[in-house]
Amino acid sequence: MKQRLARLRSILDSLGLGYMLVTKIENVRYLSGFGGSSAVALVTPTDSILVTDGRYKEQAPAQASGWEILVYTRSIFKEIAGALPAGERFGFEVTCSFDFHKKLSVEVGQGRLEPLDGIVEGLRATKDGGEIELIRAALGCAGSGFEAIRTMVRAGCSERNIAAELNYRMTLAGADGPAFDTIVSSGPNSALPHAPLTDRPLSEGDLVVVDFGAKRDGYLSDTTRTFLLPGADARAREAFEVVSGALEEVLGSLKPGVKASDVDALANEHIAMAGFAEHLSHSLGHGVGLEIHEKPTLSAISADVLEPGMVFTIEPGAYIEGLGGVRIEELVLMTERGPEVLSADISA
Ligand code: ZN
Ligand code: ZN
Repeated sequence: MKQRLARLRSILDSLGLGYMLVTKIENVRYLSGFGGSSAVALVTPTDSILVTDGRYKEQAPAQASGWEILVYTRSIFKEIAGALPAGERFGFEVTCSFDFHKKLSVEVGQGRLEPLDGIVEGLRATKDGGEIELIRAALGCAGSGFEAIRTMVRAGCSERNIAAELNYRMTLAGADGPAFDTIVSSGPNSALPHAPLTDRPLSEGDLVVVDFGAKRDGYLSDTTRTFLLPGADARAREAFEVVSGALEEVLGSLKPGVKASDVDALANEHIAMAGFAEHLSHSLGHGVGLEIHEKPTLSAISADVLEPGMVFTIEPGAYIEGLGGVRIEELVLMTERGPEVLSADISA
């Protein structure tokens, strides 16, 4: 945590700022270790101050070691203003709400506020060893949960039943809960990449997409497996082969320093060459950590470069209206030597 603060201070220094107010809760957690749902962090050249409410007066000092804890009883804005030297400019995160910004401006004066975009998110793109262990632990819970429900993925069982059991099994395995709303989409429903859960029973020949992740100690996992139920037609099998092939090709091409947009293009070319161009509908992947979608972004318009320490998904897909969809999503850690597929043990 100390290193994270030091990196942040050196960026602030290069921007000519001494002070920053951090409001995004995942960023507060990243910097301080505080795992509650409500707090802001004030980083100064010499101090780090966590401002929270009475619910966290015991948890905050226990988790945010080395931080000064301010428990506010009236206005959080007055508390923030009081902690800043009079007249000092300070950075704030543009992701804060309009209402928060308005009230803060009233309290401290508009002219003191410097908007900052993606500063802590940029630090978070590259994980340290502790974070990688936490992601592995979350993924372990997801993998155990999935192992326990694999045999439910057969004709007759409903999407809702499978999702509910998977959420339950991940939690039993140690997860604090699912990382996001678990997707179980079957047959024609699977042609929607983010299909809502239904009561549809799986039937013979279905493609079944199961997209799931676990949350543990604030960190998340994200993996997708697609099942081809017995009796699937040739077009469904072909889609499955094409997406698997794209995944293999991308994994084979990954190395430190590659541009995320090039990796996205490679997957799209592979799928388009096989005649499935019109069935692509989302970008190739995204970083995963304290948030389910964070840096880096693997898309056509991304300027990100894949560096050692980054944890991200590779999730090519093809979606055929009326028939179904295929998506296979691996969680990958970039290392100095190349990619490590963290989700390799999870098999459909
Ligand atoms: Zn996913
Ligand atoms: Zn994903």
